[in-house]
Parts: sequence; structure tokens; C-alpha cells
Amino acid sequence: MTCEQCGKPTDGPFCSVRCADITTIKRDPHNRRNDRAIAALPTIEAGQFGNLKLAWTDVRGDYRVWVSRMTCEDGARFDRAIEVEQRQAGSDEWVTHDRPNPMA
Ligand SMILES: [Zn+2]
Repeated sequence: MTCEQCGKPTDGPFCSVRCADITTIKRDPHNRRNDRAIAALPTIEAGQFGNLKLAWTDVRGDYRVWVSRMTCEDGARFDRAIEVEQRQAGSDEWVTHDRPNPMA
């Protein structure tokens, strides 16, 4: 069989703990229980203010999950916040939800 997340050949549903984590995060990106897994993901793109960890589109809309590099000293609400940007299907507007980073 192949990994449900990345498509690599595997014996189980996922090829790695990371692919299982990514699937869990995508299913419920606002669930704080996944924040340690989010913080541990490799950065796929370094933005101006944060590190992009995941980006995807599903039936709900478009998502980007970031770990901010800003701290309270910079004026941010939290140190290195977990940020979920969401653009609902059919909308042009990105909405950002931020929350404390358990690893910061
Ligand atoms: Zn995989």
C-alpha cells in the first residue's frame, strides 16, 4: 500500500510518524493538541515574519500553518506563535488565528 499523506510505498497507512502527524494537523488545524507536532515540522518556506510549515487546500478552503519568528518584544501577542491562516472556499479574504506556541 502507499502512504495516505505522501504516496510513498509503506506497510501501514503512513510511511512515518511525520506523515501521520501531518494528516492529523490537516484534519483539525485549530486543535492545540497538534501544536508540538506543528512546531517540529521542517520549514518549507521562510516568510518575512514566520516559517511556513504546511500549506494545503481542501473542501473547506486554503490553509497555511506558520510558526512566527516574532516575539512579545517585537509587539506580538505571543512568542513565536502558531498561526493558522485560512481562506474559506469562495472567499478572497485570509483570516489568521494565532495561539501560544508550547515549544516557544
Ligand atoms: Zn508518507
